[in-house]
Amino acid sequence: MLSASIVSPLNAKVHDLPRPNLGANDVLIEVKNAGICGTDLHIWHGSYALAQYPLVPGHEFSGVVGQIGEKVTTTKVGERVTADPNLPCNHCYFCQKRQFNQCLNLKAVGVTRDGGFAQYVVVPESAVFPIGKLSFAAAAMLEPLACVVWGLKQVQIQAGDSMLIFGAGPMGMLMLQAVKHAGAAQVVVIDREESRLKLARDLGANATVNANAFDLASAHELSPHGFDIVADATGIPKVIEGGFQYLRSGGKFWVFGVAPDKALVAISPYEVFRRDLKIIGSFALNKTFHESIALVQGGAVKLEPLISHQLPLERFSEAMHFAEHDPERMKVQFKLD
Ligand SMILES: [Zn+2]
Ligand SMILES: [Zn+2]
Repeated sequence: MLSASIVSPLNAKVHDLPRPNLGANDVLIEVKNAGICGTDLHIWHGSYALAQYPLVPGHEFSGVVGQIGEKVTTTKVGERVTADPNLPCNHCYFCQKRQFNQCLNLKAVGVTRDGGFAQYVVVPESAVFPIGKLSFAAAAMLEPLACVVWGLKQVQIQAGDSMLIFGAGPMGMLMLQAVKHAGAAQVVVIDREESRLKLARDLGANATVNANAFDLASAHELSPHGFDIVADATGIPKVIEGGFQYLRSGGKFWVFGVAPDKALVAISPYEVFRRDLKIIGSFALNKTFHESIALVQGGAVKLEPLISHQLPLERFSEAMHFAEHDPERMKVQFKLD
C-alpha cells in the first residue's frame, strides 16, 4: 500500500509498505482524506517526544471500512467512518477517573503507531465512529473539533458571554463556531491574515481585528470591561502573555494552542488574585467524538470552508510545506483515491 513514512526527523519517504496486520478486534480503514495538524509538523521536525520512528503519521482521517477482525461486531465492511486516534490503556489511575486524555500509557494512531497518511490504517474497533452522510473531507476534521468540544466542557461558556479568540487558523475557526453555538454572544477574532479574518466573519465572528492594529484601546471599544473568555489558538507565548489584559474581572483564559514545551510566560499573580481570573487548559480530547459529529450533523459547525488544500499522498513534502509555511493556509489534507 502507498504510505508516507517519516523514517527519522526531516527524512520522509513515500513508498510501498505491506498492509498492516489485522487483529481480532481491529478494523482496517481504507483512507479517503487525512489532515495535517501541528502535531504532524512537530513529528516531522523531531520535536514531539511521544513519536516513535519510523512512523506513518496522520491522526485525523476518514475512510471506508475495508476489512474487520473476527471479533468485530459494531461496524461492517463498506461503512463510512472516522476514528478517535487516542488509545488510552483503560486501567491506569487517570483512565479509572475517566481522564482518558491524561492516561499514563497513552498510545495514539499516527504518533506511537502507524496512522492515516497511507492507503490503509488499522485501528481498534472501539475507536471507530460512523460518519453517516458527512463528506470524507469534513469527517477528517472531526478529531480537531472533538478537541474543541473537550475544551468547551472545561471552559463552560455561559449564554451571553463575550469572547476573544487569538488565531483564525483551523482550530480558531472550529472554536469560533462551537462557542457561538454554546452561547457566546459576541466573539471577536484576531489574526494577521486578512483572508482568514474574512473567513472568520463568514463563519459568524461579530468582529475581527488585524493583530497589527489590536491593542487595549481597540479591545475596550469592542467590550468596555474586557472579555468573559480569552482563548489562545496560536500557541505563541507572547500572544498568551499579552492576552490576560483583555479579560474582564472574573474572566477565563483558555489555553488551547500548543506552545513550545519549554516556553514560559510572565503573568502577574497579583492580577490573577485581584481580578478573580481563571486559567483553563484543555489537552486533546476525552471521548468527545460523538458530540463533535453531532455538532456537524446538526449544522452548528461547518468544516468544508476550513480546508484550503487537498493533495495526493505522493506530494507529501509539498503538503507539509504548505501546512507549515503558507500564511493563508487553513487545513491541508491528503486526498486518496
Ligand atoms: Zn491533530
Ligand atoms: Zn490509562
